[in-house]
Amino acid sequence: MNVLYIYAHPEPRSFNGALRDTAMVTLARAGHQVKASNLYVMKFKAVLDPQDFRIRANPNHFNPAAEQVHGFGTGSLAPDIREEVEKISWADLLIFQFPIWWSYMPAILKGWIDRVFVQGFVVDLGEGQVYDHGLLRGKKALIVATCGSTKEMYSRGGVHGDLNEHLSIITHNIFEFTGMEALPPFIIYNVPALTREAGTHELERYRSFLETL
Ligand SMILES: Cc1cc2nc3c(=O)[nH]c(=O)nc-3n(C[C@H](O)[C@H](O)[C@H](O)COP(=O)(O)OP(=O)(O)OC[C@H]3O[C@@H](n4cnc5c(N)ncnc54)[C@H](O)[C@@H]3O)c2cc1C
Repeated sequence: MNVLYIYAHPEPRSFNGALRDTAMVTLARAGHQVKASNLYVMKFKAVLDPQDFRIRANPNHFNPAAEQVHGFGTGSLAPDIREEVEKISWADLLIFQFPIWWSYMPAILKGWIDRVFVQGFVVDLGEGQVYDHGLLRGKKALIVATCGSTKEMYSRGGVHGDLNEHLSIITHNIFEFTGMEALPPFIIYNVPALTREAGTHELERYRSFLETL
C-alpha cells in the first residue's frame, strides 16, 4: 500500500515523535511504501491566502474556492501545494497523526487541509461530486491522536463529551465528504500522565495496530 503520513507535532523527542518513528519503521517493515509530510519540519505555511495562486482567475476580488478550482485546473497552484496534491494522488492510505489541541487538530494541520484539499481536486461541488462521489474515493484515511484528558472525560456523559463524536468533523465532514473511507481513529488518552513504561506499552500497541492495516 502507498501510505502518506501527515504528522503535526512541533517536538521530535515528544511521545508523538516516538509514535511517528514507530510508524515509519513498522510500515516499512510491513512492505508499505511511505511518504511523509512532517508539517513543522517543512514549516508548512498554514494560511490560505492570495499568494497560493500564481495566476489569478480574478485579480480584483479574491474568492478562495474559485481560485482553487482555477489554480488546480490550470496547474498554477503554489509549488508547496502541488507537491502535497501529488502525494495525496499517489497514496492509498492517508494517516494523520497529531496531538488533540482544543478538542481538534493543531492549526498547522488545519491549514494543510485548507490549502491542499483543493476544490476541484478533492470534491467538485458544481458536479455534486462529494461523499460517495467525492474525488478521493478509493482512498482510506486514519486519525492517530493523543490527548491530555482521560477516556472517561472524553466519553459520552463525560465532561468533554465523546471525542469520537468531536472527531467526526474530520472523519465525516472532511474524509467522507471527499469520498475517502474513514477508518476508526486510534486514540491514546491521558498521555501527559504516561510513565515511560506505560508509554513503551502504548508504542507497542500502536505497532501491533499498524501491523493489522
Ligand atoms: C494548545 C494545546 C491545547 C490542548 N488541548 C487539549 C484538549 O482540548 N484536550 C486534551 O485532552 N488535551 C489537550 N491538550 C494536551 C495535549 O493533547 C497533550 O499534551 C498531548 O497529546 C501530549 O502528547 P505529547 O507527544 O506532547 O506528549 P509528551 O509530553 O511528549 O509525552 C508524555 C509522556 O509520554 C512518555 N513518553 C515520551 N516519549 C516516550 C518514549 N519515546 N517512549 C516511551 N514513553 C515516552 C513520557 O512519560 C512523557 O511524560 C492541549 C495541549 C496544548 C498545547
